[in-house]
Amino acid sequence: MGKNIYFTVGPSQLYPTVRKHILEALDNDILSISHRSLKFKEIFKTAQGNLRKLLNIPDSHQVLFLSSALEAMERVTQGVVANTSFHIITGSFGKTWFNIAKNLGKTPLKIEAEAGDGVDLSKLKIPKEAEVICITQNDTSFGVAIPMEDIYKLRDRYPKKLVAIDIVSSAPFLGIDFSKIDIAFFSVQKGFGMPAGLGVLIISPQALKKAQKITKKGISIGSFHSLTALSEKAKQYQTPETPNVLNIFLLSKITEDFLKLGIKRLRKETEEKAELIYNFAKTHPNFNPFVKEKKYYSKTTIVIDVKGQSKMILEKLKQKGFIVGSGYGSLKEDHIRIANFPSHKLADIKTLLSSF
Ligand SMILES: *Cc1c(COP(=O)(O)O)cnc(C)c1O
Repeated sequence: MGKNIYFTVGPSQLYPTVRKHILEALDNDILSISHRSLKFKEIFKTAQGNLRKLLNIPDSHQVLFLSSALEAMERVTQGVVANTSFHIITGSFGKTWFNIAKNLGKTPLKIEAEAGDGVDLSKLKIPKEAEVICITQNDTSFGVAIPMEDIYKLRDRYPKKLVAIDIVSSAPFLGIDFSKIDIAFFSVQKGFGMPAGLGVLIISPQALKKAQKITKKGISIGSFHSLTALSEKAKQYQTPETPNVLNIFLLSKITEDFLKLGIKRLRKETEEKAELIYNFAKTHPNFNPFVKEKKYYSKTTIVIDVKGQSKMILEKLKQKGFIVGSGYGSLKEDHIRIANFPSHKLADIKTLLSSF
């Protein structure tokens, strides 16, 4: 499928079965059926049920469909923050979330790491007024990942605060204990190997209660896509608007493919491929992993410091059919970024690494 292999961090290489599933959608009129029909509800239910199995989402938590991860940041901030959110920032996506909160008229607070550093959560003091702790679990810009164990411990120290995590570029690899997480969200064009245009938000009953509380205070939590509106419709396996039916259908199929492969195997393969890539970066005479501490190494979006050689390397790899990402923002020339998603086969990673 396709001419090149995309190791870009999103959109990325499509999962190999996407073509087959799109053809099935066309052949079975999936793109013409009503979003209020029984057939659509079944697709919604399957996508949601498969995600529950794959990510071990308990019945207590709801699965909602949005348009993107940035939308999720906005909905979450509107929905569960009356005044103050606290943001743990290790890259540009954390910054984006913080700015969304500001633009919505909230009072966000933050701790921000230097590029390539993590944040030590064990020593972190969260201000009293913070209602929700917002964490970019895997910041795609610098390849910094916050270990889930650290997040659980932080949650244990602040049991009354809500915890919301951005898992856009770590799902479905990341294992999550949802008893300690109120909100997690991702979009599908990264680890799920799908076309862009669908966001998934997993939410606890406590977080939904908070949304109702905020509404009662007279603060707007949004309109047709408020957390409450999404939650009410999701109970009937529907969305308030006409959704991205194709992507919900594809998600129902891709999750089935992942379940067949097995989440254990998917995670083990991701670990193995990540180790190959990090070893390559560490043993290369001119390169280094950009993230300093191993503890914060992302397994799914790996950033390599190539000492200003990014443009030349990307060009060379492109000629061999490998599309690799440049560095983020001002580090464009200094870094390359390699995605390690389920769509990326071990053999392709090996060929990629021998093509530098
Ligand atoms: C890509 C990305 C987003 C934004 O996702 P969209 O689908 O473009 O809204 C947010 N957070 C992280 C960590 C990302 O990698």
